[in-house]
Amino acid sequence: MAATDAYTDKAMPWFHKRLINVGSFVIVTEPLGEERARQLTPNNRVAMSSKNIGHYVRTPDNRLTFGGRARLAPSNPASDVKSGDVLKQELADIFPQLSDVRIDYVWGGSVGFSYDRVPHAGKANGLYYSMGYCGHGAQMATYMGRARPPVDPVGVHATGGGRSHTPQL
Ligand SMILES: Cc1cc2nc3c(=O)[nH]c(=O)nc-3n(C[C@H](O)[C@H](O)[C@H](O)COP(=O)(O)OP(=O)(O)OC[C@H]3O[C@@H](n4cnc5c(N)ncnc54)[C@H](O)[C@@H]3O)c2cc1C
Repeated sequence: MAATDAYTDKAMPWFHKRLINVGSFVIVTEPLGEERARQLTPNNRVAMSSKNIGHYVRTPDNRLTFGGRARLAPSNPASDVKSGDVLKQELADIFPQLSDVRIDYVWGGSVGFSYDRVPHAGKANGLYYSMGYCGHGAQMATYMGRARPPVDPVGVHATGGGRSHTPQL
């Protein structure tokens, strides 16, 4: 089973050349207080924009996490700091009232993009795989983990949901 998404390396060349490794980054504000946090995210909803940047959600201690693919760059400590600055500016563009807010945390990692920007699952080179979540794997990887793999190498059916219709890589 290959479920290595963006971290798929040249040890698995068939998969490696079908995925693009893209950096993704998150910042977290200082605690904003309940009233201010509530104004930013009415009904405590998760929000997303149609841009590569701008998904945000309130934490239980009333911080705002704000993230996205701030720069076309891999994640490493220096790159994460630069991406945090980009995200802070984007945050202020959406919420001018947060221009001076302190950013307490920034981090980054890799997300695996398929060339057609949809997740893929199937079997290739004797391996079942599910990957290419294009930055949406928190939900999709969990779902696909149940939907796939349908069988293990000795033919025992995995538990969980039915087969997905996700195309093969
Ligand atoms: C900063 C950031 C914010 C994100 N925000 C969101 C979000 O808001 N919503 C959302 O849906 N998704 C989000 N994502 C994307 C989400 O995290 C990924 O899509 C998801 O984690 C992919 O799940 P996965 O299990 O396929 O792979 P991963 O979680 O990437 O796990 C792959 C694992 O494989 C391991 N591995 C690699 N090579 C090998 C090997 N040779 N042998 C054994 N193990 C190996 C790695 O160590 C890793 O643990 C975000 C990602 C980042 C980085």
